[in-house]
Amino acid sequence: MTPVRTCIGCGRKADRDELVRLVLARGEVAVDPSGAEPGRGGHVCPGCAAQAAGKKGAFSRTFRTSVRPPDPERFAEEVRAAASEGKRRKG
Ligand SMILES: [Zn+2]
Repeated sequence: MTPVRTCIGCGRKADRDELVRLVLARGEVAVDPSGAEPGRGGHVCPGCAAQAAGKKGAFSRTFRTSVRPPDPERFAEEVRAAASEGKRRKG
């Protein structure tokens, strides 16, 4: 059974495989395409990244610490790239 995670952007619950994992790296949100980085993680739909980045306090709540929100456009780009990379790997 696939674990279910909640999207930071829209609050939708989805299979972990459908979402992109995020981790905190040196106080900033980083995309974790492997899904294997240690530490507390957050999840976001590929289409919700910009929304999540623009949502005040969304990342800080997820990671339970003060997080500098990423630039929504750049962040959305990274999440989309990670999502397609994950799909390629799974075939
Ligand atoms: Zn979402």
